[in-house]
Amino acid sequence: MKFFNTTLILLQDLTGLLFPELCCACNTPLHRAEGRICTACIHNLPYTDHHNYKDNKVARKLWGRIPFHHAMALLHFRKGNSVQNLIHHLKYKGKKDLGVKLGTMLAGQLTGSPHYQGIDLIIPIPLHKKKEKERGYNQSMCIAEGLSAGLNIPVAKGCLIRKIATSSQTRKSRYKRYENMREVFGIADPTVLAGKHVLLVDDVITTGATIEACAMELYRHGISKLSIAAIAFAD
Ligand SMILES: [Zn+2]
Repeated sequence: MKFFNTTLILLQDLTGLLFPELCCACNTPLHRAEGRICTACIHNLPYTDHHNYKDNKVARKLWGRIPFHHAMALLHFRKGNSVQNLIHHLKYKGKKDLGVKLGTMLAGQLTGSPHYQGIDLIIPIPLHKKKEKERGYNQSMCIAEGLSAGLNIPVAKGCLIRKIATSSQTRKSRYKRYENMREVFGIADPTVLAGKHVLLVDDVITTGATIEACAMELYRHGISKLSIAAIAFAD
């Protein structure tokens, strides 16, 4: 048995040498103890300080469109930066556990923030059933799971649903985007929402149209307070 165990560890080391796991942010080989993101990136990612003050870029994007308590993103997303690489791995490379890790990192920031206290429920932005089946998971749910473990707040699974699969939003005007989003989301289980302070969780906030549409649907079903947190903000 011992022989087999030693052989297995040797084989794992050899595989690691030949095909090292790479950091999902900077693509350099990871050490065995590092998971998905290297230590240098953990320290040097372009973090925001949105959790500390109300007048931040994510909040400004949403002001006048929906009522909310606080909005923030953990990282700055820019074309070609390490955060774009992270999000690409999370959405298109099957790295579910990267989502959980990012959720845990987000929880670390929110725990220390006076603006993110008293939350009852975590709700991730849903994918359409067909898209979730194709991808195999919903990346926002992975983030929500990491957040849930870090904050010790439950995730309302399957409560908010996406009824319509939407096409890419980027080339449409703001009004068209809004029209396009109005009927997209629905509530499968309204009983859990009444009077609750909900934390809505997304991977990347760009136009804010998705957040806006989900927020409307949650308010229609009686939530009392909404806070918003995302991994990245494309500013
Ligand atoms: Zn790295």
